[in-house]
Amino acid sequence: MNSEVMSKDDVVVVTGAGGFIGGHLVARLREEGYRKLRAVDIKPFEDWHQFLPDVDNVRADLTGPDACMSAARGARYVLNLAADMGGMGFIEAHKADCMLSVLISTNMLVAARDQRAERLFYSSSACVYAAEKQTDAKVVPLKESDSYPAMPEDGYGWEKLFSERMCRHFREDFGLETRVARYHNVYGPDGTYDGGREKAPAAICRKVIQALLSGSNEIEIWGDGEQTRSFMYIEDCLTGTRRIMSSDVTEPLNLGSDELVTINQLVDIVEEIAGVRLRRRYRLEAPKGVRGRNSDNTLIKAKLGWAPSISLRDGMERTYRWIRGKMTKRQDQRGR
Ligand code: NAD
Repeated sequence: MNSEVMSKDDVVVVTGAGGFIGGHLVARLREEGYRKLRAVDIKPFEDWHQFLPDVDNVRADLTGPDACMSAARGARYVLNLAADMGGMGFIEAHKADCMLSVLISTNMLVAARDQRAERLFYSSSACVYAAEKQTDAKVVPLKESDSYPAMPEDGYGWEKLFSERMCRHFREDFGLETRVARYHNVYGPDGTYDGGREKAPAAICRKVIQALLSGSNEIEIWGDGEQTRSFMYIEDCLTGTRRIMSSDVTEPLNLGSDELVTINQLVDIVEEIAGVRLRRRYRLEAPKGVRGRNSDNTLIKAKLGWAPSISLRDGMERTYRWIRGKMTKRQDQRGR
């Protein structure tokens, strides 16, 4: 099935639409001409990352079955992105909260099945991969089959792996078409950059800007900065999500960049964009997650003939500018 086959008059539901990726996804689908979009999130509308008034916006707690049934009413396609999550600092301290997202995953699958939806997309995560395969900063990129035998990230990763599996069995047993992407670290404008749920790219932009605004000339880095990661720009995430949703690929696919960097190199990039050089203070006891992680994109290239390609330098420049704009505006408002 191609995305063009999806009729623009179908009801398409995006959950977690008040969040970072969900907000961008609703905006992308609207741009593509989908007219019957339903955007659902638990947060008050004023806290949504993006709020589009001409969409059917619903505030609901999707841990409950009734709310999921209403959210999925009449839907042909469901993209389930709702989850209680955040960066390393959040998921290490909120394992039970992360696992409770299984209520959303379960009840949305049941609702999609009972509403006779044709297809459900589930946003899984690179946190499903076994920790023992991620102990060295010189990583071998993770391929999809590395998720078994299972030893995922405690809490958050277990919920994702379980829900992936549930998607598979709903497809096999009930005929609901399910598609699963394993997102690897997504970043970009309109993301969270403070408050405790932010991830490394946004946190580093914020810290560099704070150092500039306060004149402290210093940046705090979690760990020794030599842990490695790859980061996917939001536009690649949206394109990949649309492609996977529209494909015939039923197994989970990595959706991530394979441009590997250390956190120190990421700081170098942001410093270069900002035109500064800061003193680095390492907090070795801070949450740092696995030692190294990269996405193996062999399967997605083979199946879709496509993989994320936006460079970290380009994506970080756009992200840095957006965060700087927000922080400068806030400072001006405080100064008034
Ligand atoms: P986000 O936190 O910005 O968005 C998730 C949204 O889900 C939030 O707006 C939240 O309010 C909503 N939500 C939480 N509990 C809910 C409930 N009970 N009922 C209704 N809505 C609820 O996160 P994001 O970065 O946009 O991530 C979207 C999805 O992608 C999540 O499933 C996440 O696990 C997955 N993912 C993201 C990344 C990443 O790097 N951002 C990486 C891997 C996987």
